[in-house]
Amino acid sequence: RFITFEGIDGSGKSTQARLLAEHLHADGHDTVLTREPGGSPGAEDIRKLVLEGAQDRWSPETELLLFTAARRDHLERVIDPALERGAIVICDRYVDSTRMYQGIARGHQREQVDALHDLMVKRDPDLTLLIDMEPKRGLDRALGRGGDEERFESFGEGLQARIRQGFLDLAEEFADRIVVIDGNRQIDDIAGEIRALVTKTLA
Ligand code: C5P
Repeated sequence: RFITFEGIDGSGKSTQARLLAEHLHADGHDTVLTREPGGSPGAEDIRKLVLEGAQDRWSPETELLLFTAARRDHLERVIDPALERGAIVICDRYVDSTRMYQGIARGHQREQVDALHDLMVKRDPDLTLLIDMEPKRGLDRALGRGGDEERFESFGEGLQARIRQGFLDLAEEFADRIVVIDGNRQIDDIAGEIRALVTKTLA
């Protein structure tokens, strides 16, 4: 089973991905927790190239190609081998983030994102948990966290709001696999809802 987490910066998706992985592991499941951009040594190198460089280092088109290359490597080296041995793979961000960030935030490239996905990636998640959160709250949390990857977090509230709406639109488009989780609640309440959902999916 392949489960992905999506949401705007500061939505709490990484925490929820970790809590779910810990729960499944404690429950005796072979569980792999991974993330994008990155997740394999090569893809982590590409993450650095994109996120740590100057904002205008790559054109939007090149950035999309780099993220797609990173995903392909991650898939070949980590995700597919784990799925083939029967593990549950939990990934913090995946193709829906590319649809939003490279497809919307950095230009109108949704068609190119989908074409590259169909050509070079193909693997879709079985279940995607979209942690929905008010943009202002997410932004405050993301900025409060600091770190050296704030270039995307400097998008500001307006763009965060567009990305949030974009994710909600994707949830309608891919209603067969994306479930919207209200992220404006206590961590434990959110984790409980996710556990129940995943348990149902795995049964
Ligand atoms: O989820 P995480 O905090 O690791 O993401 C790092 C940064 O990369 C975030 O600011 C996110 O907005 C950005 N990102 C991106 N394109 C993607 C995935 C993440 O611009 N496809």
